[in-house]
Amino acid sequence: MSTLPAPAPLVTQANAAFWAATAERRFQLQKCNACDTVIWFPRRECPSCWTNDLSTFDASGRGTIYSFAIIRKGAMAYKEAGPFVIAYVELAEGPRVMTNIVDCPVDVVRVGMDVEVVWHDTGQGNALYRFRPVTA
Ligand SMILES: [Zn+2]
Repeated sequence: MSTLPAPAPLVTQANAAFWAATAERRFQLQKCNACDTVIWFPRRECPSCWTNDLSTFDASGRGTIYSFAIIRKGAMAYKEAGPFVIAYVELAEGPRVMTNIVDCPVDVVRVGMDVEVVWHDTGQGNALYRFRPVTA
């Protein structure tokens, strides 16, 4: 297992509410009030019907691994972090998010594995979402 750095995210007008909620360890998703599409990543318009009539809700923080890769040699802030896992997690609510799988050896990670969100504090008033295998 490696320790990943937790660099502060780039906060924009469109994602500021999402990152603010991470300070309270809440993973928020948006939902379109017109067509019910659950939306990832945070944005101003529904990518399905283009309305800006969106609401926000707290997601379960649960999902399954859709795809992953083991990074042996990282770059930039992650240069000394390898090996680590980068993955697409399919959230219980539907969207797939790019993230890291942590708190387990890289060679136990499998497609379809149940995972839950964990938070890595950036020290800048927010936290990065990462996922770990569900053990219970
Ligand atoms: Zn829509």
